[in-house]
Amino acid sequence: MQDRAHLVALRHELHRFPEVSGDEAETARRIADTLRAHRPDQLLTGLGGHGIAAVFNGAGPGPTVLIRAELDGLPIEEISTADYRSQHTGFGHLCGHDGHMVMVVALAEQLAQQRPACGRVVLAFQPAEETGKGAAAFRADPRFSDIAPDYAFSLHNLPGLALGEVRLCAAAANCASRGMRISLMGKTSHAAAPGDGLSPMEAMAALMPSLITLGQGGALNADYALVTLTHARLGEATFGIAPGAGEIWATLRTVNDTRMTQLCEAAEALVQAEATRHGLTLSISYDDIFEACENHPVAVGHLQSALTDAGVAWQMTDAPQRWSEDFGQFAKGAKSAMFWLGSGENQPQLHNPDYDFPDALIPTGAGVFLRLIRNILG
Ligand SMILES: [Zn+2]
Ligand SMILES: [Zn+2]
Repeated sequence: MQDRAHLVALRHELHRFPEVSGDEAETARRIADTLRAHRPDQLLTGLGGHGIAAVFNGAGPGPTVLIRAELDGLPIEEISTADYRSQHTGFGHLCGHDGHMVMVVALAEQLAQQRPACGRVVLAFQPAEETGKGAAAFRADPRFSDIAPDYAFSLHNLPGLALGEVRLCAAAANCASRGMRISLMGKTSHAAAPGDGLSPMEAMAALMPSLITLGQGGALNADYALVTLTHARLGEATFGIAPGAGEIWATLRTVNDTRMTQLCEAAEALVQAEATRHGLTLSISYDDIFEACENHPVAVGHLQSALTDAGVAWQMTDAPQRWSEDFGQFAKGAKSAMFWLGSGENQPQLHNPDYDFPDALIPTGAGVFLRLIRNILG
């Protein structure tokens, strides 16, 4: 990984053409073309949408090690003066997935030169991480059972942490979260006679603060619960009609899946009681469902050794990230762990319009992954 100019060029190329979750066709084509040049033993495309897996076999039998990157960008307009700024109006690679992809591409180059001594490596590029749908879809593809890993690893760059330093969680790594969509139906009426209809206004006015009291954040432990209202709508934008329907969207967040089940039950009971009190019809649905993402102690041990061997400064933390990650899906059936790679103390935050992945991290992340692979598979 001495000469990384071509990797930086690839990162900038991916950055120019971001595609949102589920729509990553061109990104996937670019990645697959690059991987093909390194002659993997297997190249699977179209996994769970636009997902890709490149498989590099070792000489002898052994475990399967999967390294995960994400294909998707975000529906956010980028603010940048870089010559490689997004060419897709309204879209940007503002979570650094362009950088994550290039780190994993760098592994293909190394594995092409020297295959693992045993087992095999699966370089996985999953679609739709930002919506929480991609990893599950990737795993649900029937072809996944042929490449099911024994170990799975990934990283996410982390603004606020010194450039190139690593933070690693012993257990819980990312929170569980889900979007709860509450629809309340009554009856419209003429604005001159609101009493002839049934407006969800009072129920909504009561529910919004009471939903928040169910989860007020606090310490990131097993009891942690946070309810954030993200959207609300009452009736239509008109002066002639008293509203007959309303919606509240809330994001529920916990450290573990058991607490999430409890929080959902409590929120549903609260909403049901309020709807009943006001004679409203209720429907509840969920979207953007992320299960908790937990690191396995054996995988964490491998990561610690690889970080030390690679000469990367690292620290352990008990606190998981508040955000969610569908990498937790890869923990099903595999010993998995993900780590945080500092992208700089003064770096804009993920999903900020002025965020940009630091190219200096490419050899650091790729180097840790390569060390992991060599340590486990030789
Ligand atoms: Zn993101
Ligand atoms: Zn991300």
